[in-house]
Amino acid sequence: MTAIGIFGGTFDPIHFGHLRTAFELLQSLRLGELRFVPAGDPPHRAAPLADASSRLAMVRAATADQPGFFVDDREVARSGPSYTVTTLSELRAEFPARPLCLIVGMDAFLGLPQWHRWRDILDLAHVVVAHRPGWRAPEAGPLGDLLAGRGTARVEDLYVATAGRVLVQQVTQLEISSTDLRDIIVSNRDPRYLMPDAVRDIIIETGCYTGLSTR
Ligand code: ATP
Repeated sequence: MTAIGIFGGTFDPIHFGHLRTAFELLQSLRLGELRFVPAGDPPHRAAPLADASSRLAMVRAATADQPGFFVDDREVARSGPSYTVTTLSELRAEFPARPLCLIVGMDAFLGLPQWHRWRDILDLAHVVVAHRPGWRAPEAGPLGDLLAGRGTARVEDLYVATAGRVLVQQVTQLEISSTDLRDIIVSNRDPRYLMPDAVRDIIIETGCYTGLSTR
């Protein structure tokens, strides 16, 4: 029974840091599929700049060519805040016997204790933490305890149980962020080579960020 990766994010916009991380984890964790789940209304942060349908279109365009990549639009379709625990509960009901791996970057992992019902997340899924430039794994506090109690370095452990382990995984460090990309785009500089051309084309054609609306 292969595992399912779940990669949530605002994806405002999606970039090669997301895509390379997802691709490496698809392979190294031997995932049967990896679902990108764009947040509709992210509860823990400022509202996204691009509207949900544009962000969804960009994620679809960025992932279309890669077998094993899928886009799950349930959080965009759902009204109200996009709680990860709700998404994972639904997926657990759909796939009772398959390991679920929630993928987060180290920066997002450090904020996990602020997430709605965060401890329930570990009952529903494993958490796979991708290293991100400039961020270090916590050694103390609730996340330090979580890593001490549930941490593993072995991918095999993700297949022993369907939920409950935390794996910190090395991925190629690409210092790209959506924040920097939004700055680039709104100041009329070109995001080329930081994101797929298909995503850049959508930004140009829709003008979903102000600026860069013409070639
Ligand atoms: P922003 O700059 O707007 O916060 P972001 O680039 O962090 O955006 P998100 O959509 O918020 O992108 O991130 C979704 C997930 O992808 C998070 O778990 C985040 O940690 C992870 N992530 C984002 N960029 C990278 C990267 N360059 N390398 C590894 N993980 C990343």
